[in-house]
Amino acid sequence: PPKLKTFDEIRLSIGDHLIKSVNGTKIRQNLRAITPEPHVAGTAANARVADTISRIWKANGLENVHFVEYDVLLSYPDYDAPNHVSVIDRAGKTVFKSNGTSPVIIPSEQSAPGAGVQWVAYAAAGTVQGEPVYAHYGRQQDFERLEKLGISVKGRVAIIRYGFCFRGDKVAFAQKAGAIAVVLFSDPAEVAKNGTDFSQLYPNSEWLPSGGVQRGSVMNGDGDPLTPLVPSKADVYPTRTIDEAYAQHVLPKIPVLPISYGDAYEVISRLNGRPVPLDWQGGLNFTYRLGPGFKDAGTSIKVEVRSTLKKRHIRNVVGYIKGAVEPDQYVILGNHYDAWVYGAMDPNSGTATLAEVGRALVQTMKDTHWRPARTIMFCNWDAEEFGLVGSTEFLEEFEKQLTDRAVVYLNVDTIHSNLSFEANTIPSLFQVVVDTAKRIPNPMKSEIKRARKTVYDTWVRAFPGNKTPSYPDFPDMPVPGGGSDQSGFLNFLGIPVVDFLYRNTSWSEYPLYHSMYETPFVSEHIFDTNDFAVHKAVGQFWAELARKFADQPIIPINISILADQLLNNYVHDLKVAIEPLKHRYPEAEDARVQLSHLIKHCQHFVHRARQVESEITALKQRNHDFLNPDQRISQLSRRLMKVERCFINPRGQPGSPTKRHLLYSTSDKDCYSSTVMSSVYDSVYDLVNAKTTKDKVAAGRDLASAISLVQLGVQCAVKTFDAAI
Ligand code: GLU
Ligand code: ZN
Ligand code: ZN
Repeated sequence: PPKLKTFDEIRLSIGDHLIKSVNGTKIRQNLRAITPEPHVAGTAANARVADTISRIWKANGLENVHFVEYDVLLSYPDYDAPNHVSVIDRAGKTVFKSNGTSPVIIPSEQSAPGAGVQWVAYAAAGTVQGEPVYAHYGRQQDFERLEKLGISVKGRVAIIRYGFCFRGDKVAFAQKAGAIAVVLFSDPAEVAKNGTDFSQLYPNSEWLPSGGVQRGSVMNGDGDPLTPLVPSKADVYPTRTIDEAYAQHVLPKIPVLPISYGDAYEVISRLNGRPVPLDWQGGLNFTYRLGPGFKDAGTSIKVEVRSTLKKRHIRNVVGYIKGAVEPDQYVILGNHYDAWVYGAMDPNSGTATLAEVGRALVQTMKDTHWRPARTIMFCNWDAEEFGLVGSTEFLEEFEKQLTDRAVVYLNVDTIHSNLSFEANTIPSLFQVVVDTAKRIPNPMKSEIKRARKTVYDTWVRAFPGNKTPSYPDFPDMPVPGGGSDQSGFLNFLGIPVVDFLYRNTSWSEYPLYHSMYETPFVSEHIFDTNDFAVHKAVGQFWAELARKFADQPIIPINISILADQLLNNYVHDLKVAIEPLKHRYPEAEDARVQLSHLIKHCQHFVHRARQVESEITALKQRNHDFLNPDQRISQLSRRLMKVERCFINPRGQPGSPTKRHLLYSTSDKDCYSSTVMSSVYDSVYDLVNAKTTKDKVAAGRDLASAISLVQLGVQCAVKTFDAAI
């Protein structure tokens, strides 16, 4: 008799069907449908995009498609009177004035009114005039360096180059240093690497034309600035006043505007003072100078910003494929749909792909009579660009349900290049992410010719892993940071996340980022010309990863890898940082004792995790399925799913109640990046920098306490698998 297929074999064949069902042409059509006009959150145009998405999802067969809505504080420029930077000479004559809008270059930008206006959200309104100072990337270390060079930005206008740090942090550092305004610019060294000749720039390439600017938000903090920790609903009382938002440096008090490198040339080439340090020189063809002031004595810079805060309505689009066995367990797929202008890459490359993932899943269900065991939930977030607003309000509203029911959150924001796949994720998901990438055909023909058949093959070469010696085939998978909607899922609720994309391999802020030239023309004619093969590969990965989480009886969370990473990577590094303190800081003694406890508990976790893994292997061999008699399978799944929640400290970090994950948090210095055990390392920093014995004692206590909290998380992880406490 023919051998019957195992459940796993049947599932894999459904996965094969699903991977084949994802259609690149349909993604291209979706992208065109979503990007006909600029669609900033809170505008009528963005409401039309939400309606379009909802219509596509319904036509594709998603269930219960609806909006989840909030009223939030957003920010807008004056589209009829753009912002300007001017150079004014001693007689009051205007020597140079930026035009304030980026020019239309090709017809598919469709010259929608206001599309070219150059602005950043939440900048303070106002006109200021003063001396300029060049502050490089505007990071903390750059301001420290300026201070060492004896140059102060106090009472002056800081000229800051984009890159290496979230723009909101740059503005906050400048404001703290006393700047009266900030002018942001994109440097050709980053955004026009092949030179500024027209033939080298958009629409002939992905490099930024000389009139383009990067828009963006300069708010520091996630969600509606007036409702931290609670949803922005009309009948819920706001938790913060606008004055508090300014006082707590959530909103900047100074005017800020972005200018193009064409305009930056006019400003920076006139700067007076010493040449910048060698590593601060940018790509404009003259020697950059620090200032303060211009070469022409008495000449000053004038910054005019018009900006208004407005309460606006936002709508997250939500839809489902209902699970057949465990409908209250959610595998959540998300992406935002609001954009600064057309948004063909950020974020609608992801939006167009997500809609196709839904269609391919429904198609596969029809073709194979299959339905996932768990529910797949589709979320298209609104107002991400203003500060993860739509997803944050949603997490605040459904905190308890999601803590209880969410299995995993899979985010795609932007597909902006064709060089390599990249995934940002946590150790317990490394294995499933790598396994899935090995199943997806390489979208680049040139790579297949080099015998790199899968997405994984190119990825592991582009981003080789060096942090996981026990898993030599793993590419580097950074900790998910801020900057997109996965942030709250992990950092606030402890839900495992994967954030993935296709990107270039060097500069992560791709040249056209947040400019009006992010049009579908770029993907169609420049980086995804082979019938959207790159978008398709991302969709295939997304769909197949969702299927695994939604359909495998034991969810693919590997706690052995987590335990191993904790002990041999995170805690090992901590030991290296703390050991040397014993010679100079008796105040660190408690911390050393706590560290030895932490190590012991991590070893215990490694041991327990191995036992769990062998039980899982044994269960899989018995080919039991969801309907196994002793329910052990669903029990194990629920427990695996809860392990990450063990690292949520409900009180949050001191002063940051939303940063609740003990292992990962976005950094205060650059909220795009994430650091491991930041509370612990902050205390080490405080101890080493303490001036008085009293401060040293306090820092030593904080350090011991922070290590102890991590240990409690580890103990919780171990206990998750014991029937008795
Ligand atoms: N993705 C947006 C940006 O980078 C928002 C990020 C945030 O506020 O964290 O500008
Ligand atoms: Zn985005
Ligand atoms: Zn963005």
